[in-house]
Amino acid sequence: MAEKCNPYENMLCNLDAAAQKLGYSLDEYISLRYPERELIVSVPVKMDDGSVKVFKGYRVQHSSSRGPCKGGIRYHQDVDLDEVRALAAWMTWKCAVVNIPYGGAKGGIQVDPTQLSLGELERLTRRYTSMILPILGPEKDIPAPDVNTNAQVMGWIMDTYSMFKGYAVPGVVTGKPLEVGGSLGRPEATGRGVMFTVVELAKRLGWDLKGLKIAVQGFGNVGSVAAKLLKDKGCKIVAISDVSCGLYNPDGIDIDRVLEYKADSPNCLIKGYTEEGISTITNKQLLTMDVDVLIPSALENQIDAEIARELKAKVVVEAANGPTTTEGDKILNERNIPVVPDILANAGGVVVSYFEWVQNNQMFMWDEEKINSMLERVMIEAFDGVWSMHQREKVTLRMAAYMVALDRVIKAKKIRGIFP
Ligand code: NAD
Repeated sequence: MAEKCNPYENMLCNLDAAAQKLGYSLDEYISLRYPERELIVSVPVKMDDGSVKVFKGYRVQHSSSRGPCKGGIRYHQDVDLDEVRALAAWMTWKCAVVNIPYGGAKGGIQVDPTQLSLGELERLTRRYTSMILPILGPEKDIPAPDVNTNAQVMGWIMDTYSMFKGYAVPGVVTGKPLEVGGSLGRPEATGRGVMFTVVELAKRLGWDLKGLKIAVQGFGNVGSVAAKLLKDKGCKIVAISDVSCGLYNPDGIDIDRVLEYKADSPNCLIKGYTEEGISTITNKQLLTMDVDVLIPSALENQIDAEIARELKAKVVVEAANGPTTTEGDKILNERNIPVVPDILANAGGVVVSYFEWVQNNQMFMWDEEKINSMLERVMIEAFDGVWSMHQREKVTLRMAAYMVALDRVIKAKKIRGIFP
């Protein structure tokens, strides 16, 4: 993408604008412009060939005003401090928008995990965990999966932390395998939350879900589940993509068959999948396709100024974190294309992470039906809150979500005051 953006600067623009709109003075929110704590670690790993490589790792805690810090860990070659900072702050707003008692954090390692063996990945994860361990804990900071990390990685983090403590501490991390205290419904939770968001949006816009044309960029944990659940609701998923290619079928892609194909393909990619009527498309073609709903579910900065000018979707639902640049967002607003922001649309994951942590603290497991119905309730309430703010204040959905979130965080900060 041509436009070079600093994701943390993007976040600050939204923060300042929302605070001003709410009428708060700079003194009342200035500390939220800075992360509370940042840890940078150099993580040595013995590789399979006997050599030693050192990877850069981060953990940033943006705010703990409303509760323990919460946020995923990302493994990607482009991870840097500004990205992790932005992602940490977004977690603060996300937890506040859905009103769960957490602050925000994020972690990451600058690494291309596809170049590592399973053993190297485990050693990297365990060493990184041991190096950020002083700031982790079920009452302090609770990681979860993000791009290129999964339940197994969370299992290693849980085990490493537990070995240091001398007893099992399942509540230190969420998104774990079921066998070690994970929650039913957690792997699908973010995609399920995206589905609830589209359903709520369709209700407000008076749209029928049947035949609604949808394009989904990114077919990982979030995008593939959102596509599957929306297809099950009767929507037509006409385009999907991952890092390997994009696929288009005007009659709707058979998402169940793609999922089966992906499960057996090397590196879990969709490249090579065929069905009648399908053709391959570029990333840009997918993002600018004439559809009802565009769901970016890959990485940030995908909808920049150029894409925003050419985008033809009627609405954008941000399943990824930060997929729209500040410039891109401005253009979409000028073109009256509504954007359901990431901090609302993809909050389903952290909501069920919260349920997982509560179950760990209670030493009790809930059934999946209960989890999914509680997730639905939380997502609908959050959507209602943001939609009302959007209508009442005549602001974009993004601004409305920031305003709902910021108001809650600032109020919590005020009540707690500044120590000492
Ligand atoms: P993932 O690694 O499972 O999937 C990412 C997908 O994006 C993969 O299909 C990958 O091939 C694809 N991709 C990467 N680069 C691409 C490109 N240039 N063009 C097209 N596709 C590309 O990750 P995920 O967990 O699904 O996360 C996706 C996004 O959702 C991220 O922004 C993440 O921060 C956000 N998110 C994830 C969760 C969660 O619970 N996993 C929760 C909230 C937000």
